[in-house]
Amino acid sequence: MSGALIGGESAAMQQALQRSSLVPSGFVVESAYYQGNKAIIAVRASGSVGLCPSCGTVSGRVHSRYRRYVNDLPLSGRIVQLLVIARRFRCDAVLCGRQIFTERFAEGVLAPSARRTARLDSIVHHLGLALGGRPAAGFAKRLMLPVSKDTLLRVVRRRSRPPSDPLRVIGIDDWAWRRNHRYASIVCNLERRRIVTLLPDREPATAQAWLAAHPTIAIVARASMRDVDSFQLKEKSDHGQSPRRTCCRR
Ligand SMILES: [Zn+2]
Repeated sequence: MSGALIGGESAAMQQALQRSSLVPSGFVVESAYYQGNKAIIAVRASGSVGLCPSCGTVSGRVHSRYRRYVNDLPLSGRIVQLLVIARRFRCDAVLCGRQIFTERFAEGVLAPSARRTARLDSIVHHLGLALGGRPAAGFAKRLMLPVSKDTLLRVVRRRSRPPSDPLRVIGIDDWAWRRNHRYASIVCNLERRRIVTLLPDREPATAQAWLAAHPTIAIVARASMRDVDSFQLKEKSDHGQSPRRTCCRR
């Protein structure tokens, strides 16, 4: 047993410091180096597949790779930047209009298009809340957290909003992979101009079932008015006007 004792501590209590433990979960470290006063850690996702954000299909077919720099927590008094080597995947779902999508990371790790990791964003948020814009920016600089006064205020404002507004106003339209091919229905959030989901067909019963599972929806606009009679169009707005025909961005 004496061989297992190092410096008075049991070897069983010791754990090797893994490079991957320095970066957010879900990433694997490829390399690490210094660049000026910054530590750059090149990482990639540990998973081998991506999830299409439009239809939810899992894909392992990599189209290409690209680089993305995001700030992370400081290390040994240095600013840390993650060089994320991210992938673009092909979506093979026949009914999905998105042929290529960029890989997404876990919500609590790195948001799409974010310039800092979620754990750094959380600290920036708390600094901003505790000290306010300018004092927090000065303190953040001492802590090697690269954020400006404006960024601090933006983060506090963004995190003050409810995380996701319930669906209220949606539009449903016919949708096809190619013209004259099998049709599906696309559901859009008309307030946020975002795609919500794709329904497998354009049967009113399918849409009714989906609506029943989303009771917060108050207004449904059917962009193609052909089936409007067979489709339960419900509107609870005060104006009593018909829903506008609107299309949303893809
Ligand atoms: Zn897809």
